[in-house]
Amino acid sequence: MREVRVEAIPLARLTALLGPERTARVDEYAVRAQELLQGRIVWNVNATHAGGGVAEMLQALLAYGRGAGVDTRWLVLHGTPDFFLLTKRIHNLLHGSPGDGGVLGEAEAALYREVLDENIGLLERRVSPGDIVLLHDPQTAGLIPGVQRLGAHAVWRCHIGKDEPDELTHAGWSFLQPYVEQAEAVIFSRAAFVPQWVDQNKLWIIPPSLDPFTAKNVDIDAHDISSVLCRASLVENTGDGLLAFPRRDGTTGVVRPHHGLVDGGRMVPEHARIVLQVSRWDRLKDMAGVMTGFARLLPELPDDVHLMLAGPETSGVSDDPEGAEVLEECRALRAALPPGTQERVHLCCLPMDDTDENAYLVNALQRRATVVVQKSLVEGFGLTVTEPMWKGRPVIASRVGGIQDQVVDGESGLLLDDPTDLDAFAAALQRVLSDDVLAQGLGAAARQRVLDHYLGDRHLMQYVDLFEALYRDAPAQPEPAVARRD
Ligand code: UDP
Repeated sequence: MREVRVEAIPLARLTALLGPERTARVDEYAVRAQELLQGRIVWNVNATHAGGGVAEMLQALLAYGRGAGVDTRWLVLHGTPDFFLLTKRIHNLLHGSPGDGGVLGEAEAALYREVLDENIGLLERRVSPGDIVLLHDPQTAGLIPGVQRLGAHAVWRCHIGKDEPDELTHAGWSFLQPYVEQAEAVIFSRAAFVPQWVDQNKLWIIPPSLDPFTAKNVDIDAHDISSVLCRASLVENTGDGLLAFPRRDGTTGVVRPHHGLVDGGRMVPEHARIVLQVSRWDRLKDMAGVMTGFARLLPELPDDVHLMLAGPETSGVSDDPEGAEVLEECRALRAALPPGTQERVHLCCLPMDDTDENAYLVNALQRRATVVVQKSLVEGFGLTVTEPMWKGRPVIASRVGGIQDQVVDGESGLLLDDPTDLDAFAAALQRVLSDDVLAQGLGAAARQRVLDHYLGDRHLMQYVDLFEALYRDAPAQPEPAVARRD
């Protein structure tokens, strides 16, 4: 297991956006958390330090948690390629997708246990009785019994799910159930994802949130956006704006020159209107469907409209072994488009060797986009929807998973009832691209919605409520040692 260091950020940075009442409330919660957790550590364990929504969120929440005086830390479990193939299979099943079609039998259960038993050995050195261990997603559920043996509170948080259960979700859940049932508390992003057998007394519904000040979401001047995207060889420009971005460790980075990030090497023309989808290269995000829908609509679109599908460099997301394959499928699909259409469709792999820079590039792309799309077939929550909403961009997204909680259809974005209906997708795109007033109205309402519901204060307060319940309901623990481990 490896620890990801997170620097503390004062809560005041966030509360500056919130107004006096909300600020007073979150400050009061911070005091309660300090008292409750004194001498204890809140551990988070997940499967990757970068790439995907969980890593994104942990970074911000831990920083504010530490800023609020809570000792909270982040460990990334150690897995083998076989283990991640298996957990990706479970991930796909929980989304109702067969994935690689493999089984979840005895051999798989043994592999899962073996890898996680090794990780428990590594946790042992760090976790003390009375600590809280938040285990994220299917990769970590098998750690629950081990965490409890250490005398710590095991909370399992599931960031994924499917609105309507089916045989496939059932198969995935059957694998995890024996572990999850042992957790002291279980967190889901939305109620529809919760399997029937989860004990309602242990259940917490906590939707994700974003941080407005990270490289991913910080404001960027329009002039600087152009320069950043040009420097990274994404969008043509001759800009001389600022290239500096905030790093999570508090220092400042500068966007490096990149070349050839866009498939085929052609940058998006300077004045193009960009329709953007940012996602991991995961079939369930349906990058291919976005491309097909866009290509179909293209003859009816003005010449300046381009599609950009952007995702991480596929070697950069350690727990997502299917990425390279899905990217190749998208490349093949693009190559099969007529040449005139190909010129208007851009596949882009963003470097992952510097995750802060990666985040800043995503930020600049989302801000530069005229419309942001998230045409997922299923979705846990969809931070890729929250992020452009915060930036005031009009979004068109599938009515699946947490996306439908975030977007009020026709008010703060447009929802696609059936994500596979490419005609409806094309019609929604046409509607937003041809009506600036609509686009602006959707964008403004989207930002307000994120401000009201999806910032870290709400998220952190829900955690404090949960932690209070854990200690209230738990048998008395020995007083924590005064000197803590590093
Ligand atoms: N993301 C990123 N770089 C990329 C592609 C995606 O930083 O090249 C981020 C994206 O901005 C978002 C997260 O990965 O913050 C994806 O989270 P989401 O909840 O949308 O989906 P998940 O990947 O967790 O299924």
